[in-house]
Amino acid sequence: LTILGLESSCDDTAAAIVRLGPEECAQILSNVVSSQTDLHARFGGVVPEIAARAHVEKLDLCTETALADAGLRLADCDAVAVTAGPGLIGGVLAGVMFARGLATAAGLPLLGVNHLAGHALTPRLTDGLGFPYLMLLVSGGHCQFLLVRGADDFMRLGTTIDDAPGEAFDKTARILGLAQPGGPSVEAEARSGDPGRFALPRPLLNRPGCDLSFSGLKTAVLRERDALMRDGALARQDRADLCAGFQAAICDVLAEKSRRAIALARDAGAGAFAVAGGVAANGPIRAALVRVADEAGLPFSAPPLALCTDNAAMIAWAGIERFRLGHRDDPGLTARPRWPLDATQAPRIGSGK
Ligand code: ATP
Ligand code: FE
Repeated sequence: LTILGLESSCDDTAAAIVRLGPEECAQILSNVVSSQTDLHARFGGVVPEIAARAHVEKLDLCTETALADAGLRLADCDAVAVTAGPGLIGGVLAGVMFARGLATAAGLPLLGVNHLAGHALTPRLTDGLGFPYLMLLVSGGHCQFLLVRGADDFMRLGTTIDDAPGEAFDKTARILGLAQPGGPSVEAEARSGDPGRFALPRPLLNRPGCDLSFSGLKTAVLRERDALMRDGALARQDRADLCAGFQAAICDVLAEKSRRAIALARDAGAGAFAVAGGVAANGPIRAALVRVADEAGLPFSAPPLALCTDNAAMIAWAGIERFRLGHRDDPGLTARPRWPLDATQAPRIGSGK
């Protein structure tokens, strides 16, 4: 079973081919990502209109490259899987329309994939995790604890009530004059900082349950910055200390809430603790989560960095999972800007190949 995956929900245009071989052995045959970071750099964030136009321009070449890298033709694939939401509507639409064209032209089935399911199912592609498992999805737009019971069966145990951690990293980077995307910039800067210098808040830590909050943290960084600014400039060490303090606060919150989520997931039979999403690329955050899993005696799984951030291999894999469950989408598939994961049990259209 060989599936072409396409991703265009934010600022990366991506195409990949994943094959499920005998004995359930999954193989990434190609994984092409064309980043738009440079296009958006001078605006300090992703501009949806520019992103959509760039996706339209890049989807074709990314797909050709993915096929060439894999040494395949489109006709060698069994289906086309595409992110159908959630995300920036222009980009998602560009991907869906492109995929519809490909699938129709080549006479292949079409699979609309939930972008979050792509992230959440990645540990099955990389580590072959079995259901159920606990997933902490930490990305640019989301932060959720999910009990993953099946490829289209997700139960949400907790979620952020305001910002996502990736968003908090990006905003903090902006506040401190660091480059976007903020996560890698803040992580690099934090290496030379003192995490204990500023007493930054740990929001919701003393509230029961596994909901999270991050917007107060970013506001606290803003306040500290304003107090430190002299002549409109921030001293290098001050900036590093703020980054280290901010990152340590996120680590603490994610670690403690993970302990609670593990307790809940365990009772439901979860056999592993996995993370995914762009923020899972952060070294100290990963290390903190590994410790929590160790304490709990649960196997830990985190995708390699390139499969943490947006990519199409995860979409192709989620497509394989949907295909195996017998899902096929209508050639008239549409984009869904909002698509909560616990509603991923999309109506079945057709009865399978
Ligand atoms: P979503 O998946 O929720 O729709 P997204 O696709 O924009 O959002 P991802 O591509 O999964 O999110 O992740 C991007 C986010 O990850 C950005 O906010 C970025 O700052 C953050 N990120 C990337 N690398 C790191 C890092 N090393 N440390 C912290 N955050 C990081
Ligand atoms: Fe993502």
